[in-house]
Amino acid sequence: MKERIEGIHAHEILDSRGNPTLNVTVTLKDGTRGSASVPSGASTGIHEALELRDGDPTRYRGLGVRKAVKNVNVKIAKALYGHDVFDQRGIDDTMRILDGSVNKHKLGANAMLGVSLACVHAAAKRVDLPLYEYLRQAFDLSYKGYKLPTPFMNVFNGGRHADTNLDMQEFIIIPHGFARYSRKVQAGSEIFHALGDVLHAAGMDTDVGNEGGYAPNVGKTESALEYLTKAVKKAGYKLGKEVGFGIDVAASEFFDEKKGIYALKTDRRKLTGEEMIDLYEMWMKKYPLLSVEDGLAEDAWEDWAELTKRLGKKMLLVGDDLFVTNVERVQRGIEEKVANAVLIKPNQIGTLSETIDTILLAQANGYKIVISHRSGETCDTTIADLAVAVNAEYIKSGAPSRSERLAKYNRLLEIEEELLG
Ligand code: PGA
Ligand code: ZN
Repeated sequence: MKERIEGIHAHEILDSRGNPTLNVTVTLKDGTRGSASVPSGASTGIHEALELRDGDPTRYRGLGVRKAVKNVNVKIAKALYGHDVFDQRGIDDTMRILDGSVNKHKLGANAMLGVSLACVHAAAKRVDLPLYEYLRQAFDLSYKGYKLPTPFMNVFNGGRHADTNLDMQEFIIIPHGFARYSRKVQAGSEIFHALGDVLHAAGMDTDVGNEGGYAPNVGKTESALEYLTKAVKKAGYKLGKEVGFGIDVAASEFFDEKKGIYALKTDRRKLTGEEMIDLYEMWMKKYPLLSVEDGLAEDAWEDWAELTKRLGKKMLLVGDDLFVTNVERVQRGIEEKVANAVLIKPNQIGTLSETIDTILLAQANGYKIVISHRSGETCDTTIADLAVAVNAEYIKSGAPSRSERLAKYNRLLEIEEELLG
């Protein structure tokens, strides 16, 4: 079966931080439409594909995306006019060739991703399939059955995601010890609210940051883990057995490249790569710390290999800025025995086909998959379907708070009901 693309239209919308991004609609010959919106990061890795912004200081502080919108409405629309919407790889390849650059700076990864995602939405609708099922078809994915991911809920927002003194970006609860996804979400929500009570009782701020998690100033970094421990107990859950912790250190954000030092302002300490590893090991012994993301800087391959050697059998070591959803960087990780899990953010690479290729390479080499939102989000839920399509072990979509975060968790509740009743 074939169905031609008849029109592609993008326009500027605002994301959860009130900054411009793209919404793209693809219209098929029979009138079927599919739409998608593009997220945006704040602690972006330097190796990510380029997010094209206008740089015009008279509009949205330079953050407008009119150039990217125009690239969709003129160049990409022309190149894909009449293309079969079921040929997703062909669609993505056409855009890649049209762009022709390594980091997609000509069309913009934001422009390309909007089109890539809108196409699969239109195609899935055309054949009346849920998106996760259509994705399996479109990419010939041969997994057995469907698995729902365990949520990574970021309940403490630091780093670039909040106005707090916490250098480390995310403190995450992982409610893994339940069979059903919906039960995991319930635990996550109850612990999130219990944490609010704990912080409030301690006289701390309970307003939330960019990803819906609390963002108080803390005395020291480790306090965040202590508060999480209290919250899990207060909510009546078993620490370790039912609920574990994760952190996204986003270490590149406070790495001093010249001195090779990680400057933790929160703790008034400067640590070497090795001392960072010692710190994670110490926390792992004291807390049910199951996952450390970007525990070291994005190009510190040697230290990453050491981290993996020391802790890789005991916990998840997730590469985000390190891998940037890029096949070549994941390949290097495999060769150098670096990390054991890959964070997947489609907008880091710019097309769905390349995203799927990175996932397949990682899985074929035993790496776990964490599908992820960005700190700047919309109510687009494509990543929830993507997680189910590839049987990802985990999904990271922020705290169970704020609609752009919950949209993904809620879509998974819907999928769970569809699959399990
Ligand atoms: P970002 O943060 O979307 O601001 O890059 C998310 C993350 O680092 O995982
Ligand atoms: Zn990260």
